[in-house]
Amino acid sequence: MTAPAGFPRAFAPLRSIEAVIFWFLGTVSVAVWFVFRDDRLDHRVLALGALAPDVVDGVTGGVWVAHSLTASVVLLGAVMALTVRRRAARKRWLALPIGTFLHLVFDGAFADTGSFWWPFTGLATSGDALPSIARGWWNIPLEIVGLALVAFMVSRHGLTDPARRREFVRTGRLTDPDPGGVGQC
Ligand SMILES: [Zn+2]
Repeated sequence: MTAPAGFPRAFAPLRSIEAVIFWFLGTVSVAVWFVFRDDRLDHRVLALGALAPDVVDGVTGGVWVAHSLTASVVLLGAVMALTVRRRAARKRWLALPIGTFLHLVFDGAFADTGSFWWPFTGLATSGDALPSIARGWWNIPLEIVGLALVAFMVSRHGLTDPARRREFVRTGRLTDPDPGGVGQC
């Protein structure tokens, strides 16, 4: 199955809306919440990681090293090396390579074998359009799904409550709402 072409030339000014945000924020945050069940994980850093590969490679205009597995592994190694004996910092920044790695998963980046396995398949990157761009109109249903997942996470973690939202912005932690619903200590 081939990916549909991007926006027709006549719609070139609309290309900027091809930036895919909610698909990655939604899928990555739900996956991590579901798999790790760790309410100390910093979802702000995770979101940064989830969007980073498209931002980094978007600057170069096509698939570059940020869509390689190597980049996420090197990032993981860097976080481990820079946070020796700093448990709190490690806990926070580990979310970054987790986010970049899951971006590759939900981007289907492994389909571009040459770039995914860079540099083991050769030093040149494909320079192809980012998967987010190549998907074209498919991004619209994906973004709708992503938005629904983000809405689920907001609702599930009580972020419609202003106090809980402020706490999330301050700490990046998603915790279960107090069953009492009043958040008293
Ligand atoms: Zn991407």
